[in-house]
Amino acid sequence: MASRSEEDLCCPVCQDVFTDPVVLSCSHSFCRECLKSWWREKPATECPVCKKRSSKLNPPCNLVLENLSPAYECFCLCSFVNFINK
Ligand SMILES: [Zn+2]
Ligand SMILES: [Zn+2]
Repeated sequence: MASRSEEDLCCPVCQDVFTDPVVLSCSHSFCRECLKSWWREKPATECPVCKKRSSKLNPPCNLVLENLSPAYECFCLCSFVNFINK
């Protein structure tokens, strides 16, 4: 059975652990490639989970942390994934 943390680190599109994860303004996370291919087939850049529109075609690594502190501006979920997988 997957632990809570593993579930949180799974992409809703490919159902696998994030690869190069990005976070939308609605705070849902996806692999960058999953989001790209999802949006390629959609007329609007909406979140695959909650359908909230996102105006950003190239979402930053982690909007949530970026908003918390400028020091975390370059912090990427990739680091978090690597940390968890150690
Ligand atoms: Zn994915
Ligand atoms: Zn969403």
